[in-house]
Amino acid sequence: MAGNFSHHLLDEIRSRVDLVDLISEYVPLKRAGENWKARCPFHAEKTPSFTVSARKGLFHCFGCGAGGDAFGFLMRQDRLAFPEAVRVLAERAGVEVPRGQESEPSSQYEALYRTLSLAQSFYEEALWKGSGGDRARRYLDERGIDSDVAHRFGLGYAPPGWDQLLEWARHHGVKSEELVQAGLALPRQEGGGHYDRFRGRLIFPIRDLRGRVIAFGGRALGSEDPKYLNSPETPLYVKGQTLFALDLAKHSIRERERALIVEGYIDCLIAHQHGFTETVAPLGTAFTASQLQLLHRYADEVVTFFDADAAGEKAAQRAEELLEPTAAGLVWAVNRSGHFEGSGGLRLRVALLPSGEDPDTFLRKEGPEAFRERITRARSILSYSIEKALNEEDMKSARGRSRAFARVALILAKVQDAQEASELAREAALKLGVDQTQLWIEAQQLQDRKRSAMNAQPRIPDPRPGPRSQNLPATERDLLLLLVQSVEARDTLLPLLDPEYLTHPILRGILEGLKQWPGVRPDQLIGQLGEAEQGQLAALLLEEKFQGEAQVIQDFKRRAEIRRKTSEIRQMTLAIINAQAAGDPQVEALTHELERLQRQARELRELASSRSQERIR
Ligand SMILES: [Zn+2]
Repeated sequence: MAGNFSHHLLDEIRSRVDLVDLISEYVPLKRAGENWKARCPFHAEKTPSFTVSARKGLFHCFGCGAGGDAFGFLMRQDRLAFPEAVRVLAERAGVEVPRGQESEPSSQYEALYRTLSLAQSFYEEALWKGSGGDRARRYLDERGIDSDVAHRFGLGYAPPGWDQLLEWARHHGVKSEELVQAGLALPRQEGGGHYDRFRGRLIFPIRDLRGRVIAFGGRALGSEDPKYLNSPETPLYVKGQTLFALDLAKHSIRERERALIVEGYIDCLIAHQHGFTETVAPLGTAFTASQLQLLHRYADEVVTFFDADAAGEKAAQRAEELLEPTAAGLVWAVNRSGHFEGSGGLRLRVALLPSGEDPDTFLRKEGPEAFRERITRARSILSYSIEKALNEEDMKSARGRSRAFARVALILAKVQDAQEASELAREAALKLGVDQTQLWIEAQQLQDRKRSAMNAQPRIPDPRPGPRSQNLPATERDLLLLLVQSVEARDTLLPLLDPEYLTHPILRGILEGLKQWPGVRPDQLIGQLGEAEQGQLAALLLEEKFQGEAQVIQDFKRRAEIRRKTSEIRQMTLAIINAQAAGDPQVEALTHELERLQRQARELRELASSRSQERIR
């Protein structure tokens, strides 16, 4: 049993859930032979090492070590507890969870999702039904937002007044405290009680990748302050890690191999309305490295829009924010080994809009063709920063030129994509009147210096499990691989093996699990183990079948027997010493026993060495 659930039930659910389908809702998987691959959703990487086997129902990342089955994936990705993951997948698979096996009352997350989804229906109803929503509907008309787009985005209306949502929620059995936790109500300063956070505003639901509401944004309909009001952060909603409309845009982003980032909700809606369904918004003025990483799961190219007047300034600022190495390593600027990589980096480009325009106004004035044209002409964000550096220096003086040279080299030192770097270098070299190679060399040297400076800093422990497979002791790993893949090996070896024999804690953890539930198939064990053990077990299960199994089992068996004998001999020797000290008459018998054990151990060793001789011959 895993918690309250029988193995039979869990097997049933696992066998009916298509893991490739499930994971595809979060990361775009590509076929690679028998398996499927993607860039890992759990760590930043440029070449896909996240592997899914549909047949085995397992996933594993060879980069960070994460791995497991469908339950494990949901637990990690959606931060669910095991019973919740079981419930979600049971529902998906159409498997009924028998009475007595239901999970505990829902966790904090589930309660939050429920409250938010209830509020969502309240706001939507208020917008479309009844006369209260008139004002908001008129506003949508004025902004040229079609009602089907408004429906697709789930727009709503928060009526004025202080307790409309609170009252309504009370009728639906939701407590005020729950609304507070979901960021929808606030405690009154005086006199106790609560009041609604969103009042008299157009409501934009903010949804996660699976389309569940996690927060709201509210826009004032008049000139009230603030113009935009967002939900506070909750366990479900972390600013800077969510992108507005990514649930709607992810398929288009993948198909069109690019994402468009616009600043506001309305820009985003209007872009979708004009067919640019690959558009998202960052929910704040600036986009963050982790938002770009999220987009990088789906595409290699991101286009953002700047007003022509401000482009140089803004691009330089963004490039500066995004390209600085972070504490977690040179994730964004260069790859782990510090080299430019041939391809696979994220290309960030800027499309220019006429002064004073944003995507919303531009699209409504000029139409989608003109907008597409602007996107086609988009240039690398770095090319704007370089341009700015060149414009700011006095290129007529030698001093100005050498300063410009240094600034450009510094920017180039941060470029991830080799092709992009070389294009930029060519462009800049031309303007600087220097040789392109010269710029390159300078950039490389700066990068080396930066890297050694980073390495000299005290190491910040990596919060991720890290690729452990490389430093597993080979024999121990082979032993586990054998145990996991072969029933015969388990039957023969498990009774002989003591987990203490293993030096590696993760492998030891797996062995302990195997011994604790000897009748259980290893893939059924996954849910019972810790996160690191799950990842390692999934890796072992995803490997090719062991060759020459019978022989290897015998080898391990002999080794285990010798080990066991040796420890028996040690104990017997101790018993004899104690018996002698106590004047115990059993000393004689014990000594006989010791001799017998020593003889057996000798025979085992001889047998083992003759076996290995044989194999050498
Ligand atoms: Zn990973």
